[in-house]
Parts: sequence; structure tokens; C-alpha cells
Amino acid sequence: MQSQMPILGSQLASDIERGLTRDEFFFVFHPRLGCAEGQISGFELLMRWCHPIVGILEPSAFISFVADSEFAGTFTDLLLSRASDVLANWKAHGYCSLTLSVNMSSLELTRADLPQKLAAVLSARDIDARCLQIELTDVVEPARLDLLADAINAVRATGVLVALDDFGAGLTSFTLLHQLPVDIVKIDQSLLRDVPGNPESKRILEALVRMGQRLGKKIVLEGVETAAQFEWARSLPEIECQGYYISRPITDLALDQLVREIHAH
Ligand code: C2E
Ligand code: CA
Ligand code: CA
Repeated sequence: MQSQMPILGSQLASDIERGLTRDEFFFVFHPRLGCAEGQISGFELLMRWCHPIVGILEPSAFISFVADSEFAGTFTDLLLSRASDVLANWKAHGYCSLTLSVNMSSLELTRADLPQKLAAVLSARDIDARCLQIELTDVVEPARLDLLADAINAVRATGVLVALDDFGAGLTSFTLLHQLPVDIVKIDQSLLRDVPGNPESKRILEALVRMGQRLGKKIVLEGVETAAQFEWARSLPEIECQGYYISRPITDLALDQLVREIHAH
């Protein structure tokens, strides 16, 4: 990955406009693993920008600007179009057990036209909605939680699953688990950092996993970076994990090859 030189806000908008017309935005794919089975259960789409001067940019350099800009709708369309290409390709090859997840901010998720867009994209390619998951990357201020909950339910009514991303990062409140009707909770990588070495961190995480599961949520552990973390994660029932120990995010070419290999066995 090249250096993440910041681009000034005033130039960012015109750079993004050019980037969109010249197809500079692309996606890499991060595998998710079912821990008990040791099998890849799906992939997460992560956006990258191949900037002609600065090089490859990660989302932190531009995605929060996009969320609040005139480009927001175009980026959602780009994301859903890429996701539907991948899912249609998997379906054509009979790879129906894999799920694909995409990231959306609460601004994107609460747009009134999202459920219609999802339904249109899925039905145009005859894709099973349960193959697609949306990860909610941020949460609005508490006063608007009910609006967010309604938007999540509208998305889930299309059959698409919704995940709460980065749970436990910063000052996340437990009421989110109670108030947001999500199907999946992704536990933030910061909570895994001292595990399994630190007994207290381990106990907190075990309790969190158990609590999420008792609330009927699927649990994904993020940021599994070491063999010890992975071995510990495998001792927990029915969880999925993601992280550099399993794989770095991969390109679409590597994705095709990996998915073929998974289905050759
Ligand atoms: P995220 O959804 O929490 O994605 C995980 C981020 O952590 C990714 O960084 C991934 O490369 C990195 N990561 C995964 N496993 C490990 C690990 O074991 N160790 C460490 N140190 N890092 C790990 P990335 O690709 O830079 O994405 C950053 C964030 O940008 C994402 O966080 C997500 O919130 C957002 N994002 C990515 N793509 C999109 C998109 O298409 N739309 C929107 N709205 N947001 C996006
Ligand atoms: Ca995510
Ligand atoms: Ca995350």
C-alpha cells in the first residue's frame, strides 16, 4: 500500500468526480471464516481508490467526505452494482453458500430509496437476498436511533441481512444491541487486541459474544491477527472471524481463484 497523502477538501470533490468518470474506484475482498468448520463463509467488499498521483488510497482518505457529499448516491450505486456482479457470477457457477457484505454509513442506510434499490438490483439478476449483507459502519446520535431502526427493518424486509459493524469501538453503548434490529454483530478489532493473553479482556469478550448470541445475533470477530487469537476464537461456539491471520483483503482475480478452490473440494 502506498502512502496515504491527504488530498485537500476543495480538490477532493473534483478528484472524486474525475475518479468516477475514469473508473478509478475498485474493491478488494476480505474473507470471513466460519471458525468451527474452518471454512470461508463469505467476503466483505472494501473500497479502494487508484488515485493517479497519490496511489492506492484506503477508504479513510475519502469515504467520510463522500457520505456527506453529492456523490453519496453514486457510490451506493457503484457498491451495489459491484456486489450484484459478484453474486450473479457466483450464482452462475452454483456457488450459492457464500455471502457478500458491503459497508454503508447510517446516512446511506437511511436513504428512503435504498430498499427499492436493493430489491431492483437483486431481482434484475435473480439473486437470493440472503446472500447479501449490509454492514452499518457508524451510528447516528441517540435521538435518531428509532429512524435508524426503521430503516434497518425496511432493508431486512427485502431479505438482505444487516450487521452492526465495529461494535465495542470507542464508547459504543449496549443499548444499540437492544434498539437496533440487526441480524449480525461484528465485534471491533480493538477488543481482541489483548486476547488471549489478558484474562480480563478474554472474559469481557466471551461475555459479549454470549450476550449477542443470546439476543439472537450472529457474531463476527474482527481483527484476528495471531494464531493464538484464532485458536481462542475456535473455542467459542458458532462464530465467524476475519483478520489478517486468515487473509489480507484480496483482489478480484484472487477472489475468483479462491472461490473456485473452495468449491473444488
Ligand atoms: P471496516 O468495515 O471495519 O473494515 C475493516 C478494516 O480493517 C479494513 O480496512 C480492513 O482492511 C482492516 N482489517 C481487517 N482485518 C484486519 C486485521 O486483522 N488487522 C488490522 N489491523 N486491520 C484489519 P479498510 O479497507 O481500510 O476499511 C476501513 C473502513 O472503511 C471499513 O472499516 C469501513 O468502515 C469503510 N469502508 C470500506 N469500504 C467501504 C464502502 O464501500 N462504503 C462505505 N461506506 N464504507 C466503506
Ligand atoms: Ca465492515
Ligand atoms: Ca469493522
